[in-house]
Amino acid sequence: RAKEQGRNQMEAYQTSMSHKAHERLKLERNLRKAIEREELVLYYQPQIDLINGRVCGIEALVRWNSPEQGMIPPQQFIPFAEECGLIVPLGNWVLRNACLQSKRWQEEGLPALQVAVNISTLQFHQNHFAGSVQAILEETGLDPKYLCLEITESVAVQNQEQAIALLERLTTLGISIAIDDFGTGYSSLSLLNKLPVHQIKIDKSFIGDKSPQGAQIAKSIISLSRSLNMNVLAEGVETQEQYNFLMEHQCDSIQGYLISHPISASEFEIWLRARIQSGEH
Ligand code: C2E
Ligand code: MG
Ligand code: MG
Ligand code: MG
Repeated sequence: RAKEQGRNQMEAYQTSMSHKAHERLKLERNLRKAIEREELVLYYQPQIDLINGRVCGIEALVRWNSPEQGMIPPQQFIPFAEECGLIVPLGNWVLRNACLQSKRWQEEGLPALQVAVNISTLQFHQNHFAGSVQAILEETGLDPKYLCLEITESVAVQNQEQAIALLERLTTLGISIAIDDFGTGYSSLSLLNKLPVHQIKIDKSFIGDKSPQGAQIAKSIISLSRSLNMNVLAEGVETQEQYNFLMEHQCDSIQGYLISHPISASEFEIWLRARIQSGEH
């Protein structure tokens, strides 16, 4: 009896394993098709300069508009894309489309804004990453000063020398670099000091933290950025209190639902034109 039960469990286990493997293959196939069939879309979220209240940049955030499942958020497919290697073509698609859209907006006479693009660590360490970025800039005609690449501390934790050299190559092209989700990784302050980075983005977990510790950490990151001569942006700003706090502590810029959720390209265009009309920009 015990033996039979064991065998049944084993079979159930094998069935569920092959079910999982099958699901993964299906997902991989669908995601590959999604990239080819242009089912991916970019949403844009504005960033506001706290000194003059103006829009100073936008972050491009990818979504998968699946015919079967509707709009799928990035956290549901980016980690998978990293595992199966599709992050490279996906990342190139994002980069090209963000640059194309920015260039198009400039040609349509909208104020030139820097566009920030998230780069996964695996994508950053692929061969020829800098070359692909350069090729995309040439192909789209976007001036490199309007591109910001968002990396996380993890890019430099393992291959420090290589990461620094690559970042230097990118900044030499005129591209800006931001460290995303700052404070959640494992990098050291001495490493941070060696990275050629323009901006630190305070992770939204500290901004949304209602305890005194969250505010204390946000304050520390602001003064750290100051002393390292870096620009500092707070992510996930949802309330007027958070806004006032960041103003008071001289954070450079903010991004969050208080200003706008991430919105589609056409919605963003309408949003920006309305702001310009009202003299706010
Ligand atoms: P992230 O780069 O830190 O982007 C900020 C995330 O916070 C976005 O989630 C945004 O919608 C959300 N957010 C913005 N304002 C607020 C706010 O006030 N409150 C709260 N609670 N959340 C806010 P989203 O779009 O779901 O993206 C999640 C993550 O997926 C991103 O985090 C980024 O790490 C990754 N991601 C998005 N697009 C790409 C991409 O094109 N490539 C790669 N490699 N990763 C991407
Ligand atoms: Mg980001
Ligand atoms: Mg991120
Ligand atoms: Mg972030």
